[in-house]
Amino acid sequence: MAVEPVCNSLWRASAGVTLDLASLTSDLTVDVAIVGAGFTGLSTALHLAKKGISVAVLEAQDVGFGGSGRNVGLVNAGLWLEPEALDKQLGAEAGQRLYDALAVAPDAVFQLIDEYQIECEPTRNGTLHAGVGKAGLEQLQRRCEQLQQRGAPVQLLNALEAQQKIGSQKFNSALFDPRAGTIQPLAYAKGLAKAALQEGAQIFEHSPVVSIATESGGWKLQTENGSVTAQKVVVATNAYCEFGVQEQARKFVPIHYSQLATKPLVEQELSTILPNKEGCWDTCTVMSSFRLDQQGRLIFGGMGDTGQTLTNWATQRVRELFPMLSKVEWEYCWSGKIAYSEDHLPHCQQLQRGLYSVAGYSGRGIGPGTVMGKELAQWFSGEIANLSAPNSKLRDMPLREIKRVFYEVGAKAYHLGQRSHILT
Ligand SMILES: Cc1cc2nc3c(=O)[nH]c(=O)nc-3n(C[C@H](O)[C@H](O)[C@H](O)COP(=O)(O)OP(=O)(O)OC[C@H]3O[C@@H](n4cnc5c(N)ncnc54)[C@H](O)[C@@H]3O)c2cc1C
Repeated sequence: MAVEPVCNSLWRASAGVTLDLASLTSDLTVDVAIVGAGFTGLSTALHLAKKGISVAVLEAQDVGFGGSGRNVGLVNAGLWLEPEALDKQLGAEAGQRLYDALAVAPDAVFQLIDEYQIECEPTRNGTLHAGVGKAGLEQLQRRCEQLQQRGAPVQLLNALEAQQKIGSQKFNSALFDPRAGTIQPLAYAKGLAKAALQEGAQIFEHSPVVSIATESGGWKLQTENGSVTAQKVVVATNAYCEFGVQEQARKFVPIHYSQLATKPLVEQELSTILPNKEGCWDTCTVMSSFRLDQQGRLIFGGMGDTGQTLTNWATQRVRELFPMLSKVEWEYCWSGKIAYSEDHLPHCQQLQRGLYSVAGYSGRGIGPGTVMGKELAQWFSGEIANLSAPNSKLRDMPLREIKRVFYEVGAKAYHLGQRSHILT
């Protein structure tokens, strides 16, 4: 069994809450069984349990082991796709429905944090999408116009304003979104798990589901030492579906994204670099992200897996962006896998009657995973007739392995090329 290592993750070191939940050692019957304890599975469990629907979550490793415990922590409103592209892909009505549901996704996240007093460094100071070059500026202008037409309170900052907010001269613009913010993502996942337990859900760690089979009109999920029988099953494994439910994996391309974190910066540096602690990412084709945590560490991320190439590139890029930093020393370095769908949209599929999967967040899963979980609970209880995510049955991703290698090698080549460009 190939298990993605967690490396030296800042989120693991600073998550606080320990859960240490037992593994499944008995045979249970519940209304809904969930595979995977990330944002999607946990939000579904929490909202089902709140309605008095019995639910059990089976997690192969520990809570937040997948993308939920490894990500950048940007709580964004909406998706990667520009609103017009969304309408084009889904049609105007369905596009608007998904747009509306995800425009308020940060509210859903920050309300849960408030309601359950989740200690996860919530910072709702907005995000900055930073423009690089002419193409970057044009992209942000287009995005800003489309978002403002739909009533979003976003603001396009000019070069001077962007530079003041970010503390770097390297950007010609930035799209500021005050609806968004940042969190400590693993602490949020653990907080969701605690809230779900408090509401009556059952969660089992170190309980990989090895098979899912039909049983008396419902489903039986088998683990090594127990089983869960349920009428409905949600497979919430997104990019982390190595264990047992691999049919899902073939629908998406898994691509690594890595992050490195410095020691806490000194006060003078913190007064210049993101002084208002917005989360930030750039418009480059091979994107990078940067933000601060509550201790004042600079967390820098880029496409591709961890390794010397990425570390060297990140060090040079951070020096270039923030020359006022006296030295760039990394204390933490970790990576995670993003599940890219062909159309860059999350999908809820009914794989068979009563067997559902939600996946394909394409790098935006904090808000969407939380919202999709809530919607699934409302849908199962008959409160809503439809989900906002498309529910088409996905085909296996064509040329999946070739695409995966292309992106991973492409990111490495880009970092090598950029580094020699930066150094010359
Ligand atoms: C590096 C990185 C950066 C990102 N940055 C952002 C960001 O800034 N903002 C944002 O919104 N999104 C971001 N994302 C995306 C976001 O993290 C994911 O979309 C989200 O976490 C998906 O949540 P999930 O619950 O669907 O899946 P996961 O969190 O991946 O959970 C799946 C779980 O299923 C478990 N599992 C798998 N197979 C089995 C089995 N057979 N039995 C039991 N359990 C099983 C796994 O162990 C895992 O814990 C990022 C992702 C990565 C990897």
